[in-house]
Amino acid sequence: MLPGSRVVVIGGGVSGLATAYFLRSGGEPAPEVCLVEESPRLGGKVRTRVLSGLPVDTGPDTLVVRDPSVRALLDELDLRSRLVPPAARGAYLWSRGRLRPLPDGMELGVPGRLWPLLRSRVLSPTGLLRAGLGLLRTRNTVADTEPSVGEVVRSIFGPEVLDRLVAPLMAGRFAGSPDMLSARLVAPQLLDLLRPGQPAYPRLRALRGASGGTTTPSTMTLPGGLEDLVEAMRQRLDDCDLRTGVGAVSLTRHVDRYVVTLADGTSVDADAVVLATPAFVSADLLHALSPAAANDLREIRYASTTTVTLAYPGHALRRPLDATGFLVPPSENRLVTACTWSSAKWPHLSGPDLVLLRCSLGNVGWCSTVDDETVVRHAHSELAEAMGITQPPTEFVVSRWPRALPEYTLGHGDRLRRVAHALRDLPGVFLTGAACGGAGLAQCLSHARRTADTLRATLPVPVSS
Ligand SMILES: Cc1cc2nc3c(=O)[nH]c(=O)nc-3n(C[C@H](O)[C@H](O)[C@H](O)COP(=O)(O)OP(=O)(O)OC[C@H]3O[C@@H](n4cnc5c(N)ncnc54)[C@H](O)[C@@H]3O)c2cc1C
Repeated sequence: MLPGSRVVVIGGGVSGLATAYFLRSGGEPAPEVCLVEESPRLGGKVRTRVLSGLPVDTGPDTLVVRDPSVRALLDELDLRSRLVPPAARGAYLWSRGRLRPLPDGMELGVPGRLWPLLRSRVLSPTGLLRAGLGLLRTRNTVADTEPSVGEVVRSIFGPEVLDRLVAPLMAGRFAGSPDMLSARLVAPQLLDLLRPGQPAYPRLRALRGASGGTTTPSTMTLPGGLEDLVEAMRQRLDDCDLRTGVGAVSLTRHVDRYVVTLADGTSVDADAVVLATPAFVSADLLHALSPAAANDLREIRYASTTTVTLAYPGHALRRPLDATGFLVPPSENRLVTACTWSSAKWPHLSGPDLVLLRCSLGNVGWCSTVDDETVVRHAHSELAEAMGITQPPTEFVVSRWPRALPEYTLGHGDRLRRVAHALRDLPGVFLTGAACGGAGLAQCLSHARRTADTLRATLPVPVSS
């Protein structure tokens, strides 16, 4: 790589920051990096706010640390020893007018054992019978090449398991309806259950064994909030050209170099460019250079959501916070789709006579037309009904996330393959971000590492004297 090679990274969320970090830390000679972020703050969806004196994450609040490359990054950033695991286990489901414990032994919402499912009374007798048959029946048909999560679950376990267990669990992790989500991309383990010749039960048991074989929790958080991850990466980019508060507006090519023009009229030229922006922004930036890639990127759907974190006096809660929270199936048509009992899940988020609850809200259209106070009043009334809360919240923070969650719908894999193919005509242009290699933070970090490694390998190498 020639000393003086320059890379422009567009987008300063975790994907862009991590790409910049890996480009700089991947050994000498490292390219110069210019990172361009439209917003005045870095971090993108990662946002920590202070509520009742405590640092609450209003975007992601959980980091999955299963991937060794993510653990290695956390070590390099001196963050691994600060990670804390959840203090509570288990969760409830709001079903037919009350909270019911989610059955043990589930894998991605699919029940692996009948007895806990029976005891939980989450399913009707008919639904339970259908789920039991699904566990025990041997299949003899071969699956469609790209089934949706909905098709897989419905065909094996019936509609109630899909509606009451899988849909609410999936909604918390992936945007989009299970009937639109590609099973291959978001839950490849489920495809194994479709193989003919063996019932689902032993396969689910093997899956549970594989995912539960470690005593180290795979989900963690940082007690100061996940913005500490953003700050740790930013601190290591002191020698980079960080431009915040100004967006990239166009990308052009001049022989073998690229020019990124910014909204303030300035421009930066570079040997390579990484687009770490949402797919619809990357589409606009790529439109002139690769209409084919831009068209496919524009097809990627994004879901919007709202989160609200509420502070209550501890004595206003009539029930113990004996789990991580509860989920609500979409068919219940409630505003609150999930509620994390933050003070139970993350004990650093509690105080004397203070409890924090964090809700994800559906009904995006309605939320976008009303003010924060109205959103909170409605969310509170559902929480009060579900949990017996006797007083309104003393404080709250509402965060609206328009077009925030890329949907891994059917055809997403093919779209990404076509985009990669089209980008072969633009050597030096790379894509990363939540729409590329998985929608969670950990997947963004690993994809950023792979992107930086590939990019470094393509830059010209200095001629040794
Ligand atoms: C409410 C919510 C809860 C979540 N919970 C979790 C969780 O608990 N665990 C988990 O693992 N994941 C979670 N996620 C997903 C996770 O937050 C995202 O996958 C991740 O933050 C995406 O990072 P990113 O850098 O790819 O994208 P972003 O964070 O969207 O960053 C893209 C950046 O590009 C910038 N940008 C846009 N246009 C331009 C332009 N023209 N020029 C320059 N910059 C531009 C944006 O301002 C933004 O900063 C959650 C997401 C949301 C919305």
